[in-house]
Amino acid sequence: MKKNSKRRMRLLYLLFCCILIPSTVFSDTLQNHERIEGKKPNLRSVIDLKGGPDSVIWVVQLSDLHFSVFHPERALDFKELVGPALAMINPSLVLITGDLTDGKSKDLSRMKQNEEEWKEYQDVLEEVVKRSGLDKKIFYDLRGNHDNFGVPVVGGSFDFFSKYSINGRLGRKGNVHSITLQSGGRRHLFVGFDSTMTIGLRGPTNLFGHPTDELLADIDEELLQWDSESTKSVTKISFGHFPLSFSAATDSGKTLKDVFLKHSLSAYLCGHLHARFGKNLKRHHQSGHNFLSSEKYFQLNIHQTPYGSNAGNVNCSSGVPPIKEFWEWEMGDWRNRRVMRVLAIDSGLVSFIDFDFKTESKKTIILPTFPLDSRFMLTSSSLHDYYCQSKDPLFYESIRALVFSRSEIVSVIARIYDSSPGKLDVVMETTMRKHEENLTRGNLYTAPWNWRAFEDESPDRFLLQIEAIDIMGRSVLTERRPFSINGVTLKIKWKWKEFLVMGCQWASLYYPILWSVVSFLFSILLISKALLTFSKKHYSYKNFSMEKRFLSGFLWLLTELSRISPVWFGMLVYLLYLLFFPWFFGQVLTGDGDKGSMTYKGWELNKQVYAGFPDIMVLVLPHLCFVVLPAIFVTGAFSAERAVYREHYLSLTAKKEDDYIKEKRRIKKDYRGNKKSKLLRGRRWVRKLLVVICLMIFWKHWKNCRATSKAYEMNPFLHFPGYCFSIPLLLAYAFYKTMGV
Ligand SMILES: [Zn+2]
Repeated sequence: MKKNSKRRMRLLYLLFCCILIPSTVFSDTLQNHERIEGKKPNLRSVIDLKGGPDSVIWVVQLSDLHFSVFHPERALDFKELVGPALAMINPSLVLITGDLTDGKSKDLSRMKQNEEEWKEYQDVLEEVVKRSGLDKKIFYDLRGNHDNFGVPVVGGSFDFFSKYSINGRLGRKGNVHSITLQSGGRRHLFVGFDSTMTIGLRGPTNLFGHPTDELLADIDEELLQWDSESTKSVTKISFGHFPLSFSAATDSGKTLKDVFLKHSLSAYLCGHLHARFGKNLKRHHQSGHNFLSSEKYFQLNIHQTPYGSNAGNVNCSSGVPPIKEFWEWEMGDWRNRRVMRVLAIDSGLVSFIDFDFKTESKKTIILPTFPLDSRFMLTSSSLHDYYCQSKDPLFYESIRALVFSRSEIVSVIARIYDSSPGKLDVVMETTMRKHEENLTRGNLYTAPWNWRAFEDESPDRFLLQIEAIDIMGRSVLTERRPFSINGVTLKIKWKWKEFLVMGCQWASLYYPILWSVVSFLFSILLISKALLTFSKKHYSYKNFSMEKRFLSGFLWLLTELSRISPVWFGMLVYLLYLLFFPWFFGQVLTGDGDKGSMTYKGWELNKQVYAGFPDIMVLVLPHLCFVVLPAIFVTGAFSAERAVYREHYLSLTAKKEDDYIKEKRRIKKDYRGNKKSKLLRGRRWVRKLLVVICLMIFWKHWKNCRATSKAYEMNPFLHFPGYCFSIPLLLAYAFYKTMGV
């Protein structure tokens, strides 16, 4: 008997090693089939801006509109509010960075394209262009993941983006578009790109940006188009839908960050995350390696280096290459918050203001362009500008702000506050004057100031506020923005939710998390069986209650896990099933009769590609962490509780354990009807608590099953019975087996 069980255990260990090692090795090669794409022509355009102010250009960004047939107010508000706002702002470009439509059913479970929403998008945008008085050609819209739900192929009959979007209707094919705005001897290069997955899976397994090597090469090519001409300085901005934390690496392991750093972008503008995770969805990227290259997996705060000004590192000699860096600015959404962003570039320095139409009607918008907000300055280049005096001194001589208003502005006042500890005093107040140039594009207000008076080591000692008063006497104030003449950045911190969505590199973290969880689950199952089978010392509740040592208690709990053999074996087989067999067979594309099958590596379509890696993590990790893991713990806990109950029962009835087997039948009988047993049963409150936890696991699992069965049009009995019923059945059996003693 002992020999047999030893052999069984050895076999199990061997099986365990066979599963884990090859799965890890093969997983990398499988990703390489992710994206199959033909090269498409990309589009370049150059716009010479007419009229002043010469030194400044400004653009508008909107994102995540999520027009939905179930939420008509999103489109209605867009039509009512955006046209007049654009007419007032008169931007040189309007960037709409993805998720133009929602593509979700009323109960949010099914995610695929809805042509009605696209028709609405087209109509609303036509109306907005008309009301804004702007040229339609300066509007650029991008595909977001919602615009790609269930679209099997770009250009196919379900690709409504190509049919109804502005880019589609203007024939802007290709995944990369570049626009250069030329003004005042400067170039402002905007490069937008579409990194949605080529095979557009239905949600929720369509959440990440999937840039390919070809796409990165195209973006690189567009970003360097002016580099050979040194006559005009170039400010580079890129825009896309996904933040870098939700963008996977390419097949060769390159990332968008590599390309952006290479070109020292000023900023990468994106959307996708919405505003519900926090206000500070901003991230400063910098070249250089962190401790143990951890930036591949996460960045702990908005800045990689949390403290200090790095002023000591500034090297002004011309041979030293500057530190590569760029800002990433997620902008919140139109869907819930009705947010719009105005971004200005003043002599190469980028500033922006995000405002929402929900809290106030925006009749006047003020965007200070100098001095810069010290929270969002480029860290190294600001320091370099200051210490190496690389900017024209004239540049520092005035406070500047763009003022957009529907009514005539009669007065603009700049105030500077000193916020040294314990005070908030106005230390300067000056009237700003409209710039004297030919102001045909917009109104730039300036005021001379003695900037040297505000040189200070602290990046938040001085605050700038600008007030505009219109002809009706109405006043609009900006927030008090910290600024730093010295080029010292104010380092604000992420809240934990902001860190989770902006700081974690989820595509890189998926496999490390997956294999850690899987190894942990296998380990506890196998160690549990090994303890029961091989250990000379018998870890039981009796030992633990006598020794009262943590270790013996822990080992006893582990041992209990494998005492209900069928459940232990069932859990082991279920884990193997999750690694080797498809979890679901579902309708993951639209209009395609063939179903796809999903494993932890992605969706297998046409028996060759694994699409949706790492997007499938949204189904895989929650199932392992919130269903399988707690189910295994609860099984062990049921068994442990029974052991305690048994001891308690035996001590009460003063029976020796030797009599246990004889008694067992009688106890079972008692348990059903006898009053004495009822009394004991009443004391099993731990078991009741476990039943509640079980019900919580069932609830979570049932919700997952219901959502996925709707999302991929699946029947639990036909398309995912293993996934759906294994855990509930195993838990129900564990509950049944531990009812009596
Ligand atoms: Zn999105």
